[in-house]
Amino acid sequence: MDQDLAALTQGLDGLGGRGWLGLRVPEEFGGLGFDDRAFRRFQETCSRCSGALAFLQTQHQSACGFLAKSENEDLKERTLPKLATAERTAGIAFSQLRRTGNPLLTAEPSHSGYLLSGKAPWITGWGIFDACVTAATLPSGDTIFVWHRLEESRGFKVSEPMRLASIEVAQTVSGEFVDFAVPEEDILYIRPGNWIHENDLINIALQSPFSLGCARAGIDVMRDAFAKKPIDAIALTADSLEKELECCRDEAYGAMENKGDTERSLNARAWAIHLAGRCAHAAVAASSGAGNSMQHAAQRVYREALVFTVSAQTTPIMEATLRRLASPQ
Ligand SMILES: Cc1cc2nc3c(=O)[nH]c(=O)nc-3n(C[C@H](O)[C@H](O)[C@H](O)COP(=O)(O)OP(=O)(O)OC[C@H]3O[C@@H](n4cnc5c(N)ncnc54)[C@H](O)[C@@H]3O)c2cc1C
Repeated sequence: MDQDLAALTQGLDGLGGRGWLGLRVPEEFGGLGFDDRAFRRFQETCSRCSGALAFLQTQHQSACGFLAKSENEDLKERTLPKLATAERTAGIAFSQLRRTGNPLLTAEPSHSGYLLSGKAPWITGWGIFDACVTAATLPSGDTIFVWHRLEESRGFKVSEPMRLASIEVAQTVSGEFVDFAVPEEDILYIRPGNWIHENDLINIALQSPFSLGCARAGIDVMRDAFAKKPIDAIALTADSLEKELECCRDEAYGAMENKGDTERSLNARAWAIHLAGRCAHAAVAASSGAGNSMQHAAQRVYREALVFTVSAQTTPIMEATLRRLASPQ
């Protein structure tokens, strides 16, 4: 799935067929309405199996999560039931809000809605998803969320899919909007100020499950390596990392439930990132030369650990990660 688009989309369809792309869709709209904890455990399990699938499906589930919070009942009725059954799939484009300085993507009020202009540097799922929830900055500095089709038009062009060291198969592009018209009925909501800073502060720990699942995948690779070559150090290392993973998971989920404690959340996220890197590195070491092959699971997990190091990164998360990486063991 990390190298073959057809296999990846088959995986996505597999989730959709089980109703698992509707985890964030409320039951009244045909979804499974998972609570936060259950949803995070799902994310973790998914990233243990395939970083690419975990990354791709989370874009869709985030789009559902944004829509579920909308006060636009008509939009919810038009979109959520279809998103829950994967009849429609959607990506997200909001990380541009994290950039400092002049807003990268702006929205100007027009007679029938808003006109979007500027850049969305990251949109995953091009050619896979048919719609997108995009966030832009209003002249007031507030943030607007809109729903639109994910296809090129006169007002919306995208780059070639990016060449990436990992998860390239999920087709990430950057988008350019020029007076792209969004009608009033496709507006999710307007949030005061630069919503993302507040949101990032509260949700620091929410991305940890991807790294936790990735760490677990590295341990799985070590267990496979040990089955093929019974060298004690491989099993001992896997045991020791697994013990640490249990502690790290407890702390990460504890931090998710105690969102007010920013320092705890940052430390938990940095620990999960660091641990995933070490498990993946140990998986490569235990797999010897074969661990360098593009086809080898150890190599894939190692590169996935890198994506989960930076996805949804903010400056404090970067700082916490670097502090942790620089501290002696
Ligand atoms: C493979 C991949 C796919 C992705 N897909 C999506 C997607 O589908 N949708 C989506 O919304 N996002 C997506 N992202 C974006 C991802 O969430 C971002 O990596 C993350 O938001 C960090 O932003 P950035 O990489 O653009 O870094 P930056 O813009 O560099 O931001 C990182 C931090 O550094 C700060 N910073 C940057 N420049 C300066 C400076 N000069 N001075 C001081 N501080 C500075 C920023 O304010 C921010 O806090 C994807 C990322 C990857 C790697």
